[in-house]
Amino acid sequence: MNLKNYYTTLFVLFICIGNVSAQFDAPNTPPEESPMPMKPEMTEIWEPEVTVVTPADILGDAPSDAIILFDGKNLDQWVSQKDVSQAAPWKIVDGKFFEVVPNTGGIQTKMKFGDCQLHIEFSAPDEVKFSGQGRGNSGVFFQNRYELQVLDSYQNRTYRNGQAGSIYKDHAPLVNAMKPPLEWNTYDVIYTAPRFKPNGVLESPARITVLHNGVLVQNNATINGLTKYIGLHDYPESHGEDVISLQDHGTTAQFRNIWIRKL
Ligand code: MG
Repeated sequence: MNLKNYYTTLFVLFICIGNVSAQFDAPNTPPEESPMPMKPEMTEIWEPEVTVVTPADILGDAPSDAIILFDGKNLDQWVSQKDVSQAAPWKIVDGKFFEVVPNTGGIQTKMKFGDCQLHIEFSAPDEVKFSGQGRGNSGVFFQNRYELQVLDSYQNRTYRNGQAGSIYKDHAPLVNAMKPPLEWNTYDVIYTAPRFKPNGVLESPARITVLHNGVLVQNNATINGLTKYIGLHDYPESHGEDVISLQDHGTTAQFRNIWIRKL
């Protein structure tokens, strides 16, 4: 090969290598021609079909996929917290609702739950006897740890993060939507359980949304930890699904129409 041919071959080789390398190095940019135009069906997802749930005829009653925790008949879904081998010691009244029997201890579900949608109705004692935290105090404890306060907060001042609709000593409710003692109240709750890493460290705290009589009182609020009467709340240990419990605070309160959906 003479010198001229040698340089020509070298030049062609460089061009080829350049082209190949340009193909491999090409950034992931869209082609210059306009992209394929979008069609309506390109953003439609059909499968799997969304599960059908039949809603109740009356708003607030259980939809078809709910687990019934109390419908007036019995407390078979509940046990005593003092001795979980024993039946729940609270009193069913008129086959319609049940009442806290003070100082018999709290009650808890037999089943365990994590993320859930809960509906529960409650009423303060008909006769107004006490004040502050002493009037119709109970509570719904998610995963047996995090308390949504139940209290007669109708014209009854107490600390704002301890009244009805509060996450006890954690978040005050956004407003006070309490009905007077002779009327029933509803809580509709969307609860997201806390997540923990394999080593037990908190990954994400629990969150809660609460409607009190249809009024938003907790808006996806962060639950800052285990409910304590004294001291700041935290997550001392990791845990999985757990029971829902109702508090015996030594005062009467009434409950009815309790159902739950696992999420
Ligand atoms: Mg309470």
